Amino acid sequence: MPDESESPGDLRTPIVAVLGHVDHGKTSLLDEIRGSAVIDGEAGAITQHIGATAVPLDVVSEVAGSLVDPTEFDLPGLLFIDTPGHHSFSTLRSRGGALADIAVLVVDVNDGFQPQTEEAIRILKDTGTPFVVAANKVDTIPGWNPTENAPIKQTYEAQTDRVRSQLDEKLYELIGELSGAGFSSDLYWRVQDFQANIGVIPVSAMTGEGVPDLLTVLMGLAQRYMKSEMEVNIDGPGAGTVLEVKDEQGFGKTLDVILYDGTVRKGDTIVVGAKNQPIVTEVRALLKPRELAEIRTEKRFEDVPEMQAAAGLKIAAPDLDDAMAGAPVRVVGDRDVATVVEEVEAELAEVAVETAEEG
Ligand code: GDP
Repeated sequence: MPDESESPGDLRTPIVAVLGHVDHGKTSLLDEIRGSAVIDGEAGAITQHIGATAVPLDVVSEVAGSLVDPTEFDLPGLLFIDTPGHHSFSTLRSRGGALADIAVLVVDVNDGFQPQTEEAIRILKDTGTPFVVAANKVDTIPGWNPTENAPIKQTYEAQTDRVRSQLDEKLYELIGELSGAGFSSDLYWRVQDFQANIGVIPVSAMTGEGVPDLLTVLMGLAQRYMKSEMEVNIDGPGAGTVLEVKDEQGFGKTLDVILYDGTVRKGDTIVVGAKNQPIVTEVRALLKPRELAEIRTEKRFEDVPEMQAAAGLKIAAPDLDDAMAGAPVRVVGDRDVATVVEEVEAELAEVAVETAEEG
């Protein structure tokens, strides 16, 4: 008998992580993507979550212009984890896999592969996470003539032959380095099968050039190859991963969580991975950033009755002192608490083993 609560038509937002060597532009690229929200400023624009930024399909389609036909997509958009870097990536798991469904590996076109690029590649390989390469800082090619926020082919064609050939040379070096790391890759517009080849997208986090292409490729990858993994029971019991455990004035210890499945509601009993025994507690408040709020103003959060995957949210609940970053969070729902505790324990053991292996 099919479970009546199953609604296989629900598709959640794919979760995207940004990785790469220090100073190659991870933060700038995330800021640039978030910036497209401000330009838009309408309903359906980019929304700030706790620890993440949601870029809905209509924004992707608006930013991407003619690159995207929104009718080809039914995934709701992209959720970028705000904390870049491979450390957060490798500690953030979901049910044994990586929390992120897709990654963007940022590489400075001038610098090429650096130690943390290699490290990121190794982690992506180990977790089997699909990724694209953002070949960043194309605007630093001497003589580059920028067109803000333009698709990369348009701006590439507007460069002089000399500038183009310099960029080509750097891009081919990068493709060579990827090959050395065991990945066949090419400029994204030449890639037919993104499962066999990594798409390289020339971008500038400074001028926004290539950002339309990056969003388009990520959306396309997710739609084409990940749709079945995005099929979740949105109304089912929530499952997430703790990004951070934080003291918050008026709330005590809180959890910043990325919810990747189901729904969490105020009053829900949850099980949270902790240093010793998993914590069984009750959601007192679900918080999201207040619209347009200054980061440090007083009432930074809005208290909401429920949130659905995929989302970043803050959970306030009693007894969270021993909760750990990277640990699983599960809504109990109509299941047996002991079963959920066992599930959390098993998953936590797996994370701990992997962390030890990495160390
Ligand atoms: P992260 O350490 O990878 O997060 O790198 P950041 O985003 O902090 O960037 C490192 C430096 O590179 C900063 O000074 C940025 O302003 C600069 N930067 C990042 N992206 C670009 C780009 O596309 N073009 C140029 N010219 N500078 C960039």
